Amino acid sequence: MADLAVITRQALDEVAACGDLAALEDARVRWLGKKGRITELLKSAGKLVASAGPEAVARVQKARADLEVAIVARRAEISRADIERKLVAERMDVTLPGRGEEPGGLHPVTKTRLRIETLFRQAGFDVASGPEIEDDFHNFGALNIPPDHPARAMHDTFYFPDGRLLRTHTSPVQIRALLEHGAPLALIAPGRVYRCDSDMTHSPMFHQLEGLAVGENVSFANMKAVLHGFLQAFFERDLAMRLRPSYFPFTEPSAEVDMSCVFCDGKGCRTCKHSGWLEISGCGMVHPNVLHASGVDPERYTGYAFGAGIDRLAMLRYGVNDLRLFFENDLRFLRQFRAFGA
Ligand SMILES: [Zn+2]
Repeated sequence: MADLAVITRQALDEVAACGDLAALEDARVRWLGKKGRITELLKSAGKLVASAGPEAVARVQKARADLEVAIVARRAEISRADIERKLVAERMDVTLPGRGEEPGGLHPVTKTRLRIETLFRQAGFDVASGPEIEDDFHNFGALNIPPDHPARAMHDTFYFPDGRLLRTHTSPVQIRALLEHGAPLALIAPGRVYRCDSDMTHSPMFHQLEGLAVGENVSFANMKAVLHGFLQAFFERDLAMRLRPSYFPFTEPSAEVDMSCVFCDGKGCRTCKHSGWLEISGCGMVHPNVLHASGVDPERYTGYAFGAGIDRLAMLRYGVNDLRLFFENDLRFLRQFRAFGA
């Protein structure tokens, strides 16, 4: 029993020397485990009493308790040291600027829309907007497209179960603006429209530009001048423009607008299918039925309206040949437009 103090000292020293939890567990098993040295001493309590007196058992129990306390304390120390070490190793300076975060840029279609808005505002037009979920009256009925009209078949409309629909053009904004403000007015309405259609030059969602001017003595010649002026300003160059007779239910007379090809200056290339012309817009004088449905007196007022694809204008301005690129949002594609101005 004279050895008990020595053994206890040795056990405490071993525990103190343990550098990690695994080593500490080894030491615990070695001293206090089922076959640990101190456990063995207690197992032979009878021999202890015989050789070293009755208080010997109590001394060994005290030694075991001291060792247990030492192990718990050492375990806490090691855990704390582990956390400290991790905190130092994984230290993070939250005040450092981020890496690889580049400033964003506007989407090319957005740039194009803003440019169009600026140009038309300079020409005295307001910019209007309307809901993308429309009803039959604003999208079709008021635009002189009654329920049995064949023009509905050209629109490939997305319908909701309750009969409402995703607008197939921005023309409903004409009706809403006229009903709200009456004549005279001049506005453009850029926005998203939807048709059940998808290929290289069609997307189920695309952007359209609506133009409308209603007043006394508003003429077809006014429209031609405004459109020609807009195209030249938009493409920043002299362009030839021509009108071809066409048909839309909401205008009469109606015309398609062609401009000389911006890629070959009218000489003929693949983009213009060697015709030298690019189709850019549909237009016409607002049909008296449309004015009437919008609460405007067609005897007193006349107006013109036109529509153009914002995406198509963006494609022509930036030389993009696949409409889908605009909507796939591949950053490698979009990044190229940061350098462009408006
Ligand atoms: Zn061409």
